[in-house]
Amino acid sequence: MNSEEIELIYSIKRCFEDEIEVWEKVSRCDYAIDLLTEKLIHDRNFDFPTNIPSFIDFVKRNNMNVYISKKLPNQPLINDYMDINEEVVELLDEKSSEEKVQKIMKELLDLCRYKNKEETNLDWEEIYVKARGFISTHYVIEKIELDKYLSSNFPYEIRSFISRMYEKANFSLNESYVCSICGKPLDYTNEVGGCSNICNYYKLHERKADEIRSSKNRLVKLNKGIYKYILLPNIGEYRIYKKLKKVFNNFKVKLYPNIDEFDIGIYYGDVTINLDIKDHKNPYTLVKNLKENTNLYKFNESKYCFLVIPDHRVTIYKQTKSKNYMKELGTLLRNEDIYIKVIQERKLIRKIDQIVGEIDE
Ligand SMILES: [Zn+2]
Repeated sequence: MNSEEIELIYSIKRCFEDEIEVWEKVSRCDYAIDLLTEKLIHDRNFDFPTNIPSFIDFVKRNNMNVYISKKLPNQPLINDYMDINEEVVELLDEKSSEEKVQKIMKELLDLCRYKNKEETNLDWEEIYVKARGFISTHYVIEKIELDKYLSSNFPYEIRSFISRMYEKANFSLNESYVCSICGKPLDYTNEVGGCSNICNYYKLHERKADEIRSSKNRLVKLNKGIYKYILLPNIGEYRIYKKLKKVFNNFKVKLYPNIDEFDIGIYYGDVTINLDIKDHKNPYTLVKNLKENTNLYKFNESKYCFLVIPDHRVTIYKQTKSKNYMKELGTLLRNEDIYIKVIQERKLIRKIDQIVGEIDE
């Protein structure tokens, strides 16, 4: 969906909020009618509402996938009780938490990059790695413990960023089961007691039983978006890093080199091998994200730069969709004329060995 379509949904939603004054309601409806009219005319649909009653009738009667976006459910945006469609509420929540996360992470990144140039007395590369490591391993934490850890481990500029990623927990821990991979209390993830697909994969592969935790103090938990867009993708990333560090123990292996230019850097003599780990649910969103957000040039600048797909993603895709992730990704990239080196995690060690062998020759 584009921003005009999202704005149109928001504008309609705002007309049906409770406890707003009549004059406010009228002004919101007028604004929504204007946006809707614009959209309908653009789509060559000239049957648009011209007053508030016909506008209300229109949004209750027409399915939103017909007049807003094909990606929306085949249902009206507003039901007979004047409530907004549940699926759309979720979608908007997700969009706003995605935006919030991107903003907060971008600010943290920019700050570390700026400080790295200006303030050389502190190792800002290390501070950045430590900040991401911390949030990725502390889904839920006592507020008092969080404050103590932040003040003794981070410069004050960073502390507020990390604090803002947490919010009051709506649960308590009393001999409760938490996921051994992501740290989320299990009762709150879904009714069958499992966790995300990623967690379930690693629990099985690493034979990790769920943990039991109790706490009497006030708890805070990670913001939903940070969990989804930072903690979950970090699970595979961090395991690949640890594996490479162990296998290539006489090389320097770094996490987020040059403050997140890449995800992992491997240094052998004069040669640097850079890895970007991408953990997207399907190859389509990965390619879309590559096109929209990634500086593709960086992949071709250096000879040894790879986009790595974690093994768990390939397995989960196979299990849930019965399809080959790597093959589909290859086809999509070719269709988009994107030529970058893509490799699956399980082939990575052999590839690095091969590169090192060529250099040594
Ligand atoms: Zn989990």
